[in-house]
Amino acid sequence: MADPKGFLSTPRVGAPTRPIEERRQDWSEVYVPGGLLPIISEQAGRCMDCGIPFCHNGCPLGNLIPEWNDYAYRGDWTAASERLHATNNFPEFTGRLCPAPCESACVLGINQPAVTIKNVEVTIIDKAWDNGDVTPQPPERLSGKTVAVIGSGPAGLAAAQQLTRAGHTVAVYERADRIGGLLRYGIPEFKMEKRHINRRIEQMRAEGTKFRTGVQIGTDLDAAKLAKRYDAVVIAAGATQWRDLPVEGRELAGVHQAMEYLPLSNKVQEGDFVAPPITAEGKHVVVIGGGDTGADCVGTAHRQGALSVTQLEIMPRPSDERPAHQPWPTMPMVYKVTSAHEEGGERVYAVNTVRFTGDENGRVRELHLIEVVFEGGTFVAQEGTERIIPAELVTLAMGFTGTDQGNGMIEQLGLELDARGNIARDGAYATNVEGVFVAGDAGRGQSLIVWAIAEGRSAAKEVDTYLMGLPSALHAPIRPTDRPLTV
Ligand SMILES: Cc1cc2nc3c(=O)[nH]c(=O)nc-3n(C[C@H](O)[C@H](O)[C@H](O)COP(=O)(O)OP(=O)(O)OC[C@H]3O[C@@H](n4cnc5c(N)ncnc54)[C@H](O)[C@@H]3O)c2cc1C
Ligand code: SF4
Repeated sequence: MADPKGFLSTPRVGAPTRPIEERRQDWSEVYVPGGLLPIISEQAGRCMDCGIPFCHNGCPLGNLIPEWNDYAYRGDWTAASERLHATNNFPEFTGRLCPAPCESACVLGINQPAVTIKNVEVTIIDKAWDNGDVTPQPPERLSGKTVAVIGSGPAGLAAAQQLTRAGHTVAVYERADRIGGLLRYGIPEFKMEKRHINRRIEQMRAEGTKFRTGVQIGTDLDAAKLAKRYDAVVIAAGATQWRDLPVEGRELAGVHQAMEYLPLSNKVQEGDFVAPPITAEGKHVVVIGGGDTGADCVGTAHRQGALSVTQLEIMPRPSDERPAHQPWPTMPMVYKVTSAHEEGGERVYAVNTVRFTGDENGRVRELHLIEVVFEGGTFVAQEGTERIIPAELVTLAMGFTGTDQGNGMIEQLGLELDARGNIARDGAYATNVEGVFVAGDAGRGQSLIVWAIAEGRSAAKEVDTYLMGLPSALHAPIRPTDRPLTV
């Protein structure tokens, strides 16, 4: 156990962030570089090493949290990194981006602020990279089997790394020009700098994983032919089919999907453009949708120099405290203030968009909204509450409806979909097509990075078993049907 009295004597302290005025001027991560190091061992010492660590179950990866808290408390960063990597291929992604359902399940959280598990995680992995503890782990021998992974987001990368390390020859196919999925083109630099992806890719290349970018399976390469060339295929193509807003004025210039807007900003940071082709500079910006994607638009718009940013959400404002029907140790829906929200903007709840109006050049100028109440399973507009707000750039961040069905991959392989538009799979991540498996958002719908990594690991175990005809020694945290304590 870490510090036996730590939970009594040490208050929770979060990660120190840079001043808002400073970070709105740049794209670097919002945290003070190295700011956690002086405080983190003491914070890890708050862990009670509970007899039943509910945090294990709260984390979809089953991370061995009390074990690495103990090592972090003692300053044994190498041992901490070894225990962390036992269940998580990419702790630098989750340690920065995970909403930490483990902390909602922390036993200390019943009557005190939970242990800062996510911050311990990110400190361990950052130290491990600094200390040279993260090295390539190529397989000792090759199996002679080949696997194609379609999609290079966290699910595809986790599956590819596990299968490469198990001795299979793995090629990752990615339609974008760079590897990383939504980690690369979606999540902004200020939440996670892309250098973290780049050095993992280097590690994976050194282990033997091959990467093919700019190849869309279905259009550039026939999916059925690809499946014939490989002994197994893992589809990790994400759930990038966006939800639209079919209201009057949707066609006006300046109304964009969030995922048309955000990747262009990522591309500026990569050095592809000097200025983003769609920019918030000097504009009144409205973001429709109150989730992670919307928050990323808010932070991006502020950095681009927006005049104002308003974020609209159809649901009512969540409560500050855990609601009674979402008791510990579940992950509750509570009011969240992300780093992007700290930086400014207005959040408006329980409103729906009625229409957009534009100027004589066909550019959006205003958004007409109305207050709504959720009654009898539907949103009911409240007469007399319509109002108009300025809107010169609108981003739609209203969620995703399933995996992309427009590139021919599904038909070429003859894949079945489930009722929610995801690729159907059984309890072993297998689709209806022999030798074709599915992991991450493509199978479960738009979710979280931690789930994508967990599914990539678990699918890899099933693929390894399928290829070798023997029970696999790979670690697998979850099955597709598992719904432990989290979203
Ligand atoms: C803007 C935004 C912000 C988010 N922020 C967070 C966050 O802070 N924390 C969090 O936990 N989650 C967040 N999420 C959700 C998280 O990013 C996803 O759940 C996660 O990336 C899913 O991983 P994946 O590997 O299944 O798919 P993806 O990351 O979507 O990767 C799929 C990849 O497959 C490629 N692909 C698709 N079809 C083909 C094809 N036919 N041929 C070749 N390649 C193909 C795509 O180009 C893509 O690169 C966010 C999502 C968005 C949109
Ligand atoms: S991956 Fe997420 S849920 Fe798991 S320990 Fe890290 S922060 Fe917690």
